[in-house]
Amino acid sequence: MNRDPRYDILFEPVKIGPVTARNRFYQVPHCNGMGHQMPEAHAAMREIKAQGGWAVVSTEECEIHPSGDVTPYVEARLWDDGDIPALALMCEKVKAHGALSAVELTHNGYTASNLYSREVALSPSHTPLKYGYPQQARAMTLRDIQNYRQWHKAAALRAKRAGFDIIYVYAAHDLSLAMHFLQRRRNQRSDDYGGSLENRIRLLREVLQDTKDAVGDSCAVALRFATEEFLGEGGVQNAEAKEIVHHLADLPDIWDVNVASWYNDSVTSRFGAEGFQQPFTSWVKQITNKPVVGVGRFTSPDTMVRLIREGALDMIGAARPSIADPFLPRKIETGAINDIRECIGCNICVSGDMTITPIRCTQNPTMGEEWRKGWHPENIPAKKSEKRILVVGAGPAGLEATRALGQRGYDLMLAEASDQLGGRVLKESALPGLSEWRRVRDWRVGQIEPMPNVSVFRGNALSAQDVLDIGADAVVLATGSHWVRTGIGRSSSEAFAGHDSPAVFTPDDLMAGRYPEAGPVLLYDDDNFYLASVLAEALAARGLEVHFVTPEDVIAGWTSNTLEYRPIQKRLRKLGIHLHTGKTLQAFDGRHAELACVWSDDAVRIAAAAIVSVTMRLPNDGLYHELLARENEWQAAGIAQVSCIGDALAPGLIAHAVYAGHRYAREFEAGSGDNGGSAEVPFRRVRIRL
Ligand code: ADP
Ligand code: SF4
Repeated sequence: MNRDPRYDILFEPVKIGPVTARNRFYQVPHCNGMGHQMPEAHAAMREIKAQGGWAVVSTEECEIHPSGDVTPYVEARLWDDGDIPALALMCEKVKAHGALSAVELTHNGYTASNLYSREVALSPSHTPLKYGYPQQARAMTLRDIQNYRQWHKAAALRAKRAGFDIIYVYAAHDLSLAMHFLQRRRNQRSDDYGGSLENRIRLLREVLQDTKDAVGDSCAVALRFATEEFLGEGGVQNAEAKEIVHHLADLPDIWDVNVASWYNDSVTSRFGAEGFQQPFTSWVKQITNKPVVGVGRFTSPDTMVRLIREGALDMIGAARPSIADPFLPRKIETGAINDIRECIGCNICVSGDMTITPIRCTQNPTMGEEWRKGWHPENIPAKKSEKRILVVGAGPAGLEATRALGQRGYDLMLAEASDQLGGRVLKESALPGLSEWRRVRDWRVGQIEPMPNVSVFRGNALSAQDVLDIGADAVVLATGSHWVRTGIGRSSSEAFAGHDSPAVFTPDDLMAGRYPEAGPVLLYDDDNFYLASVLAEALAARGLEVHFVTPEDVIAGWTSNTLEYRPIQKRLRKLGIHLHTGKTLQAFDGRHAELACVWSDDAVRIAAAAIVSVTMRLPNDGLYHELLARENEWQAAGIAQVSCIGDALAPGLIAHAVYAGHRYAREFEAGSGDNGGSAEVPFRRVRIRL
């Protein structure tokens, strides 16, 4: 296939100071939970991006000094020369594919907690540490400022020795000293570094100049700059940001611009569409002569072209689109637009960083597995035999197993009970704000449709006898799960009284269009993630009064790992949803619900005409157990193995189901060492050498 000439502009080289990017695709810095602790895994993940056509491939934040130690989070590190080899490995791998490597140097100031180094944190003025530890950062003296400049310069020189082409100064996300000095709310100094805007910019200007002096002969110096914090006067605002850009205009070799903090920058698709940052960043190019890169979860090549032509950006920045599809540029270049695996904006990738584990992605199950399992997002070993495989269920697990086994070349049958493919993704994507999640289904169906070796049977609810009659060599059951109606879950092992009333609903009811006719509705959330808040919106949209009740002390607590916590709190309040925390559901009589306080056991009675219970799911594993019970009939039917995957095995995230489907496909007829690990542990590990 050839590239559509409309997209030629995306493949023009861009000069960035002393270096040149081969095209306009720029993987901006992003966290990954591997960082300095898993350097081979980190380097392999970045290498795949370079191979996929990105012209610039960046690290995540890179700590420059022990007083800016972000432990327990695992990012990159250049504290001393001993840290160079780990990053040199990344540079070597990225360069081998013709891409430039970039490093985001930072000192996190009061947003570092120094839990490992035990240094006292630094800040423009005295302030409590941002991340909730009961300690304070101290106001920097002029000597501290000199030291900080030296540390940054030393780290830049180390980065150059590691082989980086682009070296960042970081003033974004509310995560760096250079930014903290800019912020009025953080900077109460009365010396040359505080007060007027010119004074607050001084440190940033000095560090930029230091970096240029130190490495600017052969490396480009990038400035990552937040143009808006959405905090009013106390934060960086667009108006002041414009003045800052005027002050520094051509000092950096490239401007990498976005909004702050991270939860505003990496907004989920529920709360922000592709290109949502444009109004806040597109003006930067009018002020500077240097190239500008910006982000906005760009997956559409037409949007990218428009932004370049409109003069909003010179380079298309991407973190999440490059995670969901490391080969996005290559696919545009080769005219394979329909093969782009578009990011769905769910932020499961972010949760890897938050939970300090290797990055994972809903759309791209190979993300984070490049080194430890040797998985590649585009390539998969060819089939090893002529075996026929039956996949039952076309949710994310069944679709991904079918797609990846189909790519291997196996002869496949996919049977789906309903008339539509997609399982839970199809249902959830019809809920308010989740329409982009449909991409999980659409991409897989789009890949499967042209495969001559795959037959898809819709409207085919298979029984155990059907499966035996089909007699495939291998059977994969991906039959999903259903929500319980009893209220049983994390906080309760007993059903609430009255759970069998027709006025008790589950998420499955609502997703099938069965809603309570009258309120008030008590929405009982013991799941603690996104779904209950989405259902609250759906109920409120029908004009129903909603009481959101949870045994937890916070609403939708796990969404802090996907950066949705704040927008959810705001939206529920805006919709007038009544919020009740720390309460379990005990009983329902059709007119009232009895709640119990989790701390005092005090009873609380509230009016409720209906209950929506969001607590836990049970696997749809009846077919699996029937087949297990008839194992003595498998051989005669020609069946060698029956497996159960995804929600049918243990309900989880969509990302878990996609991963389970992919893993099944990779491991089918694979040797025990094929995943890089041992017979006991199916992946490679970083070992400490003793
Ligand atoms: P997962 O997230 O594990 O992929 P889903 O619940 O999204 O699970 O999808 C399960 C799919 O399996 C649904 O589309 C459902 O209709 C289908 N299914 C369940 N039981 C059968 C069966 N016996 N035969 C065919 N399809 C089935
Ligand atoms: Fe996009 Fe979700 Fe993948 Fe992150 S995890 S890259 S948000 S699809």
